[in-house]
Amino acid sequence: MRLRRSIGTRELSLLDPFLLLDEIHSDRVDDYVKGFPTHPHRGFETVTYMISGFMEHRDSLGQGGQLAAGSAQWMTAGHGIVHSEMPNPDGSVFWGLQLWVNLPAAQKLMKPRYQNVAPDRIPELSVAGMPVRLVAGALGNERGPVDGISVQPTLLDLKLPPGGRFEHELPRDHTVFAYVLDGSAELGAALNAVNAGQIAVFSPGQVVATRSASGARLLVVAGRKLNEPVARRGPFVMNTEAELDQAVEDYQNGTLVSG
Ligand code: MN
Repeated sequence: MRLRRSIGTRELSLLDPFLLLDEIHSDRVDDYVKGFPTHPHRGFETVTYMISGFMEHRDSLGQGGQLAAGSAQWMTAGHGIVHSEMPNPDGSVFWGLQLWVNLPAAQKLMKPRYQNVAPDRIPELSVAGMPVRLVAGALGNERGPVDGISVQPTLLDLKLPPGGRFEHELPRDHTVFAYVLDGSAELGAALNAVNAGQIAVFSPGQVVATRSASGARLLVVAGRKLNEPVARRGPFVMNTEAELDQAVEDYQNGTLVSG
């Protein structure tokens, strides 16, 4: 799989509560067709946001279906999920993102939960003439359809026209970042230039200010910090090494999912 990883790297291993951010964007089937065959998760949430193409999803709860362009899936793995995520080569460009959001210790072993959000359930607002898709969080009097477990997530997809500006305030105890999907934008008070495929992290309490001279599409993502120890091993994210050992053991003996 050819992907661009911005969180969960050597340079930025963790951006509490965010554990990983991957973007797949390609018109070459070979880049993505291998997909993500059957694999487990425990202890966190995976968020898939599709921009173009389809993703076929099947899991251990017997759920499955197609994630179409413009849809979002917020999956709370909790105690355990085993699933496959396979891009469907339909001849169009495949463009999707996956974000991993940590769960607090008290909810790491909760019953798994899905929020599958069809494209038409995501409000497309007009903010000063620019389209903003509100997946999660609040903007003015509107709320996005996704409801987080504990981090009070914000997920906005903005299309800044040339010369466009956007400002948004978020709570001081939230981690806030912007990820540029297309074009380039100038972010923050210093107007730092950020290009497609790059991430910018805002300081605590800093107003999310973005503008773009030439036009840009970007995601603005925020969530409350958990401030808990993070122990991670591949598809499992817990608080301690002993809990990771338990997750591996449960997966091997078949009780990851059944509990
Ligand atoms: Mn997965």
